[in-house]
Amino acid sequence: MPLMVYINGKFYNKNNAKISIFDHGVLYGDGVFEGIRSYDGLIFKLREHINRLYNSAGLIRLNIPLSKPKLIKDIIRTLKKNKLKNAYIRLAVTRGPGDLGLDPRKCKNGIVFIITDKIKLYPHKFYERGLKIVTARTRRNLPVAIDPRIKSLNYLNNILAKIDAIDAGVEEAIMLTFDGYVAECTGDNIFMVNKNKLITPPSSIGALEGITKDAVIRIARRKEIKFDEEKIRLSDLYSADECFLTGTAAEIIPVVEIDKKKIGTGKPGLVTKLLEEEFHKLTKKDGVRYSI
Ligand code: PMP
Repeated sequence: MPLMVYINGKFYNKNNAKISIFDHGVLYGDGVFEGIRSYDGLIFKLREHINRLYNSAGLIRLNIPLSKPKLIKDIIRTLKKNKLKNAYIRLAVTRGPGDLGLDPRKCKNGIVFIITDKIKLYPHKFYERGLKIVTARTRRNLPVAIDPRIKSLNYLNNILAKIDAIDAGVEEAIMLTFDGYVAECTGDNIFMVNKNKLITPPSSIGALEGITKDAVIRIARRKEIKFDEEKIRLSDLYSADECFLTGTAAEIIPVVEIDKKKIGTGKPGLVTKLLEEEFHKLTKKDGVRYSI
C-alpha cells in the first residue's frame, strides 16, 4: 500500500499529496514543523512536541486551525492508516496560499500536514564507535534575528551548515554563534562532559529547545549527574572528556572526533552510555500510546 499523507483532514496517496505553489510555506519557508518519533506504538513525548509546535506558531503569529487534542487524534489516525508502530512523524503547519507578496494576512487558510514514515537512522556503527564531526563555516542565526524557539520551515541556515559537513566528508557540523560560542549542530543539540559534569549551551544563545535535550537533562537530575547550562568555547569542547549529540532521530549519539581532534579517549564515554541506556528506557514509557 502506498504511504498515505494527511493534509487538512484528508488522506492522499503520497504521490498525490500536494500543496499550492502559492503557499507561503513554499514561497518563503513561512510555517512551523515538528519531527516526532514513535516507538512500538508509543509516540514519544508527543505532548511536548505539540506544545512546541503551538509555541513556534504563536511566535510567528500563525493560527493552527486545530485544537491540540484534535491534532493528536489526527496524528494517530495517520499512523494507523499507514499501519506504522515505529515511525518518524513529520508534522507541519504552513501559512497557506497567499499572493506573491510577503504579507501573511493574505494567507487565509493555513495548511496542516502529517507525514508518517519509517525512520532513517544513523548507521549502528556510529553509536558503537562514535561520530566524527567538524565545525561549520556557517554561523548560527542571531537569536535577535530569529528566535531560536521557533522551529520554522526555513532551515536554510542549517542546510548551509550541513553542506559544510558534507564538504568535510562527515555527517554533522557544529554551528557557532556569531561571537564564536558553540550553539548546536545542524539538526541536533550538543552536550559535553567534563570532570563528570554535563554541560550544554543555553538555548537563548541560538539553539533549538530540543525535546531530547530536555529529556537528557531530566535524566541527569534523576541520576544526580552534575549539570549546568553554560556557554561553551570550541577549545572547551576539544578538551572535553566526552561529547554527544541529541535529537529525535539521532537520540543520543556519541561524538569522538571534532575537527580531526580526538575527544577524550576517542571512544564513546561512560556518562554518554549511561544516559543512552536511561533514554532508551524512557522511549518505552514516556508518551502517548496507540494501537494499529
Ligand atoms: N537542533 C535543531 C536545529 C534541530 O532541527 C533539532 C531537531 N531535529 C534539534 C536541535 C533536536 O531537537 P529534538 O530533540 O526536539 O528533536
